[in-house]
Amino acid sequence: MTAILIGLVILIVFIIIAVRAGISKEETLPDAPRERVIHMSGIYSIIRNSPREDLLRLRPSEEILRQYLADQNVDMYNVSLGDSDKSALLEHWKMQMDINLREIENGDKTDVVFYYYDFPQACPACAPFVTRGHFVSREEVYCNPRIIPPFHLGCTCTLVAHHGGADLRDTNITGLTPFFTGETAPSLPEWTSVISLPKTSEVTSDNI
Ligand SMILES: [Zn+2]
Repeated sequence: MTAILIGLVILIVFIIIAVRAGISKEETLPDAPRERVIHMSGIYSIIRNSPREDLLRLRPSEEILRQYLADQNVDMYNVSLGDSDKSALLEHWKMQMDINLREIENGDKTDVVFYYYDFPQACPACAPFVTRGHFVSREEVYCNPRIIPPFHLGCTCTLVAHHGGADLRDTNITGLTPFFTGETAPSLPEWTSVISLPKTSEVTSDNI
């Protein structure tokens, strides 16, 4: 009888040890950190989740934009802003957000690694910060979704997929320069900088 009891106690102790070992194993599983990951080949491994939600979290909501515009009578060049100009700016902001996010989402379907900034119309608020031909890697976009334009109200900056096979970090192509000079994200315009949209009749094909 005693032998059976001792046997049972030993069995229970073993079960408890086994269960605790299982639990601690689950607890020590690491979370997936948002860090740069470099393959042995030297090519960044990219986690190609759409940056849409991250970007929407970072940017002011439509309501905040609307309230801000309601208090503005002129843009940063003292051009007066009417109600229709303000509505157009809000629609333009939403449209540009969508265009740039779609460019990345579509690029992910074909494993695009690099994107460059382009300015179909000059954007004076962006000019001190980012110019045509500055490029970023998909990994940099993943780590810093805030580098996706538009950067401010009335911003005409767009992100364009680079479909070539070349590694743009080693490129000699004229006009293409890396946007990041180190690990830190470069400065960008404040979203509160307002630039009136060109009237339809005044749209030109001038680039920066
Ligand atoms: Zn801009």
